[in-house]
Amino acid sequence: MTPDTKFVTRRALLRGIAAVASLPFCPVRGFAQSNTRAQSIAGWQGRIESILARGRLPIIDVQATYVPGQTNVAKVISMMDETDVAQIVFASAMAADSSPSIEAHRANPAHVIPASNSGEFPRWWTRPEPFVDGVARDLKGGGYFMMGEHEFRHYPSPEQVEAGQFQRDITVDITGAAGHALFKLSEETGLAFQIHNEIEDRLLAPLESMLTRYRGAKVIWCHLGMIRYPNRSTIYGPAYVTGLIEKFPNLHFDLASPPAQNIYKPSGAHDGTLYDPASGKLRDDWRNVLESHSGRFLAASDYRPQVEQNYTRAIGFQRRLLEQLSRTSGEAIAFKNAWRLVTGTNWG
Ligand SMILES: [Zn+2]
Repeated sequence: MTPDTKFVTRRALLRGIAAVASLPFCPVRGFAQSNTRAQSIAGWQGRIESILARGRLPIIDVQATYVPGQTNVAKVISMMDETDVAQIVFASAMAADSSPSIEAHRANPAHVIPASNSGEFPRWWTRPEPFVDGVARDLKGGGYFMMGEHEFRHYPSPEQVEAGQFQRDITVDITGAAGHALFKLSEETGLAFQIHNEIEDRLLAPLESMLTRYRGAKVIWCHLGMIRYPNRSTIYGPAYVTGLIEKFPNLHFDLASPPAQNIYKPSGAHDGTLYDPASGKLRDDWRNVLESHSGRFLAASDYRPQVEQNYTRAIGFQRRLLEQLSRTSGEAIAFKNAWRLVTGTNWG
C-alpha cells in the first residue's frame, strides 16, 4: 500500500474502467482482468493528479530495466517520490519470463507500470525468436501495458566500457524473423515496444522497411540523438527525424540521451547530440522538432541497477530539457504521451 493509494478516488476508478472499455487493442477479454487493468490505470491517474495538485510536473519514465534481486525497488520508489516521477515502466531482465514486472507492480501499484521482458540480456541476443514467442505468451495474460527495450544494434554501455566488458556489442537483424514477430506482435496487441538501434547510416533503411511494412506497430526508438560513432552517421539529425515522424504515425522517441558534456570513451565523441556542447543547451534545431512534434517524444531515465545511484541525476537531466520547451510540449513529453501509449486514451 502506498501513500498515493488514498488518491484513487471513485471518479478515477470509473474513468479507468471507461478507459479500458474503450481500448481497441485491449488484449484482455475477461471482466475480472479488465477490472484489474482499470484499477491499475486509476492508481496511476491518482498519483499523477496528486503530483499536479502540488504544482509539480509529473514524469512517466518509460524506459527502465528491472532486474529482480539487483534492483533496490524501495530505493527507486523513494527516488521517484523525491523527483516527482509518477510512474516507471519496469521491463524485467535476467528473468525466465516477464512476471517479475507484474509482481513489482502489485507491490507498488501506483508507481510501477508492468512491461514485458527487456531484450537486454543474453536470452534475447542468443535466441531472439523464442524470446519473442515467450513475450507473446506473457502478453496473453493481459497484465502488461508495454513491451521492453529490444537491442537490435547495441554498443557496450559506458559502465561496461569502464569495466572492460566489450562483449555486449550486439547485432540482431531487425529484418530477421524475431524483428518481424515483434513488430507484428505490437500491431496485434496494440502495445508499444522499445528498440535500441545505434544511429548508423546503414541501419536506417532496414528500420524504415519494417516501419513501412508494420504501420500499426507502436515503436519507441530509445535515446534520441545519441550518436556514439559520428563517422558512421551522416544522415540522422533533426530533419531526418522530422521526416520519419511525418511518414510513420506510430513512431515515438525517448529522451534517455546523454547530457551535453558526455563523451563516449571508445570513440571519444560527444554522444549527446541534442545539445550544444559549449552552452549545454538544447540545440535550436532539435528544440524546433520537439516543439513541432511534441506528441512523439517521451521522458525516460534508462534506469538499470548498475547506475541506480544516478537515477535522481538522470531525472534532473530530463527536467532541464523539458524546462527549455513550452509548457504544453513539456507536459506532453513528461507524461501525457506516455499516458496515451500505456492506457490507449488521452490524458484528461
Ligand atoms: Zn538502450
